[in-house]
Amino acid sequence: MNSGRRSFLKSAGAVSLATAIPLVGCTTPGNPPVSTPRAQMGKGRMKLSFSPYELQLKHTFTVAGNSRNTTPVVLTEIEYEGVTGYGEASMPPYLGESQESVTGFLQRVNLEQFTDPFMLDEILAYVDSLAEGNSAAKACVDIALHDLTGKLLDQPLYRLWGINPRNTPMTSFTIGIDTAEVVKAKTIEADRFKVLKVKLGGGNDREMISTVRSVTSVPIYVDVNQGWKDKHESLEMVYWLKEQGVIFVEQPLSKTAIDEMAWLTERSPLPIIADEAFQRLSGLAALKGVYSGINIKLMKSTGLREAHKMITVARALDMKVMIGCMTETSCAVSAASQLSPLVDWADLDGNLLISNDLYEGVKVVDGKVTLNELPGIGIKKTAS
Ligand code: MG
Repeated sequence: MNSGRRSFLKSAGAVSLATAIPLVGCTTPGNPPVSTPRAQMGKGRMKLSFSPYELQLKHTFTVAGNSRNTTPVVLTEIEYEGVTGYGEASMPPYLGESQESVTGFLQRVNLEQFTDPFMLDEILAYVDSLAEGNSAAKACVDIALHDLTGKLLDQPLYRLWGINPRNTPMTSFTIGIDTAEVVKAKTIEADRFKVLKVKLGGGNDREMISTVRSVTSVPIYVDVNQGWKDKHESLEMVYWLKEQGVIFVEQPLSKTAIDEMAWLTERSPLPIIADEAFQRLSGLAALKGVYSGINIKLMKSTGLREAHKMITVARALDMKVMIGCMTETSCAVSAASQLSPLVDWADLDGNLLISNDLYEGVKVVDGKVTLNELPGIGIKKTAS
């Protein structure tokens, strides 16, 4: 048993004793003592701290609509009785959050009012109620809290959720839009991955796919990032992609083109997955019939707790589920990986695209997401 677990059990025991004493005094002889609510247990107070950090990308990353070399993130820690949980918010520029908006939001979060970190639903409902939007800012609190509670119990999150760690999927590795020469080099470099995700929508779609196919026969996921305009041309392209060994197509048309997307999904020989069109759990039921499935990302879902619920609801709606990520350190990627045994497809390569990761966590072994035995989200801090 590690010291974190020991001190937690010790403090939980001490608190039970302390709270039991006054109850005896106010209990009528013969009546059982009134039980103490969990929320009143624990003497500690959670302390949230955070710092901005800039991720350096190994290669310039281009998708339909933008190109960049860095991604701003905010790293969080929640400390409780000597145990620290880690979290992260990643803010790719096109999603509208920034280091300023995230730190501004986190300054308003008062976790010291809660004495029991295990009251996750209550704490995270409070965080969600502070402001609309701010989904990455909310996610970094959710991730750190899940990491903390796992560490307090000395168990990986997947075990607390009853998830079989052996059922993790392969993860794809992303090939951005580029010239044939660069695409070919990147594909060769990615030969340890058993699936590739190819970004399309840059006007050279057939060339992109043919170039990848000239060097590998692994299955391909396609992400268009809303880059196609016409539903008839899209359908024709999807048929061609199926012949090229493509498994599904993510966000082919604009997220606002609902009727066109439903038309395409109905006729498509491949599953059509919502990414930009899907944010929070409340929007999921409306996507039934418009898309075949959803791409869940912790930075959109406000973290692990809602992401887990999304998987449950999507399954009830008979929809496909993929789990993806932004450019992130091993912190947020390892957190998402805890849920990955429950999904059809994973795209959890965000930490592999950066050169200044601060954590060591979940690994890709023979192309497969591989969970470890570390408690919480499964990471160790290796630099600061
Ligand atoms: Mg996408």
